Amino acid sequence: MQNYGAPELEFDHGEGTYLYTNAGERYLDFGAGIAVNSLGHCHPALIKALNDQAHKVWHTSNLYRIPQSEKLAARLAQLTFADRVFFCNSGTEAVEAGFKLIRRYQHAQGNHQRKRIIALGEAFHGRTLAPIAAAANPTHTDGFLVGDSGFDQAPWGDIDAVRRAITVETAGIIIEPVQGEGGIRVASEEFMGQLRQLCDDNDLALMLDEVQCGIGRSGTLYAYQQMGISPDVLASAKGLGGGFPVGACLTTEKFASPMTAGSHGSTFGGNPLAMAVANAVLDEVTSPGFLDNVNARAAQLHSGLAALVEQSPHLQSVQGLGLMVGLMCNSDAAELNKRLQAAGMLVVKAGRNSVRLLPPLTVNEAEVNQALEILSEVLSAWQ
Ligand code: PLP
Repeated sequence: MQNYGAPELEFDHGEGTYLYTNAGERYLDFGAGIAVNSLGHCHPALIKALNDQAHKVWHTSNLYRIPQSEKLAARLAQLTFADRVFFCNSGTEAVEAGFKLIRRYQHAQGNHQRKRIIALGEAFHGRTLAPIAAAANPTHTDGFLVGDSGFDQAPWGDIDAVRRAITVETAGIIIEPVQGEGGIRVASEEFMGQLRQLCDDNDLALMLDEVQCGIGRSGTLYAYQQMGISPDVLASAKGLGGGFPVGACLTTEKFASPMTAGSHGSTFGGNPLAMAVANAVLDEVTSPGFLDNVNARAAQLHSGLAALVEQSPHLQSVQGLGLMVGLMCNSDAAELNKRLQAAGMLVVKAGRNSVRLLPPLTVNEAEVNQALEILSEVLSAWQ
């Protein structure tokens, strides 16, 4: 199908923060497959985990116990607010699972009319039917939806507007603590606290979409852990598999208990290959010093970019948290993206005329300096 346009660039192999074409051209990868390659390309621990598991068993289905998924679930529960985890294969499925359990929870309380979920700002929650209905971005919904599918939208950062959007039919609220596709935007601690309070006061579920900002990218394992709140439901994916497709929906016992046997499922979800890799990712991300590197590289990148914003008329501001960084542009962001690619550096275009810098979390000091140099040269040469 033609739904991805017609990109020309292709890669043969990768190593760490670099990707290489067949012709041997090297690209500095500050896109990481849209925040997926958390440990860079071909990390030895991931290659080993995948190969070791490949020699044992690839897939058995959830008709049987999967020790690797029990292990990963227990570790995620231990590291977060969660008591229960459901595994799937992508971010959109993790979000779908969250929507289902929120509705099911309200249903189990006898609140049968409470099915609607409020999404915030220029959200992005995935491409299956419920997440596109939640985000209500016309580019993504045009021609696909029947009715409003049970979602409402409120503006970002405006707690009064969120309060006004709540009705007797509202079941929960979903927010990306750091917005990605819509253009990098960090929720304030105050706003997150107000959302938590609103949910508590109205018995609504607070769901976080940490598909993009989770697994260390924000500088903590999950971004909410530096925002002074605890959610009821959290969707995780992307960096959790480091390039192997995996998603996870985390929740508390309270919200998980109505999800009885047979109420939800996935053939591939939590399969041994995915779980072996995700456990290896978690080994690295939770190893001593790993997040220190994320935070040190983030500080280096943010201050370097702030200096470039001062110097270049093409740039408006730098925003973000940890190694999830947005450059808001005065000139066309797509053009900046193109010029950077031509200069051997990969970034990702985002909404509100911005580009995202999402390097592997293993990026080193020299590579951040190289990125800043390429950016500086490209911006100076751009009349
Ligand atoms: N939620 C957020 C915040 C995302 O950034 C994405 C993907 O970009 C998704 C959900 C959907 O994830 P996936 O493409 O793995 O379905």
